[in-house]
Amino acid sequence: MTALEMMKALGLAADEEAAGKLTEYNAMVIAMSKKVNLTGIKDVEESLVKNVFDSLTVYDEKYFPKGGRVLDLGTGAGFPGVPLAVLRPDMQFILVDSIQKKLNFIEEACKNLGIGNVKCLHIRAEEGGRRRKTREAFDVVTARAVKAMPIISEWALPFVKVGGIFAAMKGPGADEEMKTAGKILRELHGELAEKKELALPGGDRRCILYIRKTAPCPKNYPRKVGIAEKKPILGE
Ligand code: SAH
Repeated sequence: MTALEMMKALGLAADEEAAGKLTEYNAMVIAMSKKVNLTGIKDVEESLVKNVFDSLTVYDEKYFPKGGRVLDLGTGAGFPGVPLAVLRPDMQFILVDSIQKKLNFIEEACKNLGIGNVKCLHIRAEEGGRRRKTREAFDVVTARAVKAMPIISEWALPFVKVGGIFAAMKGPGADEEMKTAGKILRELHGELAEKKELALPGGDRRCILYIRKTAPCPKNYPRKVGIAEKKPILGE
């Protein structure tokens, strides 16, 4: 399957220039991951499905407002942040990771491909969520394969504007995870707006939880670095 076919399959405006950028970015990720650990996947075709296609599944026009701001938390090799930025050149994307060398790769690759709406931010989620400049500043926050729902919810929701969306990209265990995150979601004013279940070409099952933020998060969240992981707030 080509990137153009993937865009069509997802019902996205199939634009050859965008498809070309997705194809090249994917090839760069695979080439680089032979040298440094960027993604577990080492094959171009497999990465096109499991990284690029999978990244695009989180896209839904109704949650991505024209000219808005998106933050991708724990972006790793730029997933889903870079494919989304290619799809929506009108929006600004901030890609956050705690590992600088991954961000160096993304910056270099985006520069080479002329992807101008991506900025990388080297910070821990728990620090970024407390900073004035990034707290409650994003229409959408995405996170794929970062942490279990109670932890990633505590990290992500402080970045979201009131009325905005936290999109958690999960696998088949999403329902169970959602149950364990009930308490922290209530505390941070996140409400499940939509659950999208789908399968990747090849059959792997995915589930995207779209959480709407309905009010500002209490000032004491996120807790200090490492606390959400050590003492997650669990419960229905
Ligand atoms: N979203 C990417 C990467 C997932 S791996 C993908 O789906 O391919 C999880 C990433 O989260 C890693 O790159 C790791 O460095 C980053 N990460 C882990 N803890 C973090 C924290 N506290 N703040 C910011 N990034 C973090």
